[in-house]
Amino acid sequence: MFRDRLTMVSSGGGNAPLIATLAFMNCTFCRILRNELPASRVVEGTLTTAFLDIHPVSPGHALIVPRRHVESFVDLSPEEASELFMTGQLLATHMKKTLETCEGITVSLADGVSAGQEVPHAHLHIIPRTLGDGFGWRFPANYTSDAAPRANLDAVAARIRASLNECKKS
Ligand SMILES: [Zn+2]
Repeated sequence: MFRDRLTMVSSGGGNAPLIATLAFMNCTFCRILRNELPASRVVEGTLTTAFLDIHPVSPGHALIVPRRHVESFVDLSPEEASELFMTGQLLATHMKKTLETCEGITVSLADGVSAGQEVPHAHLHIIPRTLGDGFGWRFPANYTSDAAPRANLDAVAARIRASLNECKKS
């Protein structure tokens, strides 16, 4: 099936579909979805599936991934994004109920290499937390606890709002 898919896109001209297909074939999460790699699965959804991270920060650390190979969070469909986060909430609820070491939950999604995304297939981390477990955010050296000037916040907010409004028009 995958060979057919490769042939089909190869004859279509242009390298972008071929690169996309190769990414799909080699992607660790897509390989788990095709049962080519083992995974400790926790819940199967219509558009997403969830399994435990092979390098857990804590017991129960789970990943929720869309069934479709999508690299960036922003390219998920609204339905995929919705199921991703609803499944995250469901898992968090049951982790708190069942895991003795789960006092709290960190929900994390890295979009892009600069954000720390290591597998180029969008995924949401649900990480059970215990007080003093040592995991957490690392702030840049120039970070300050002083509130940002309101004018700066307003200027950035205005740019994002303008982009949103532009989308609504088109
Ligand atoms: Zn993938």
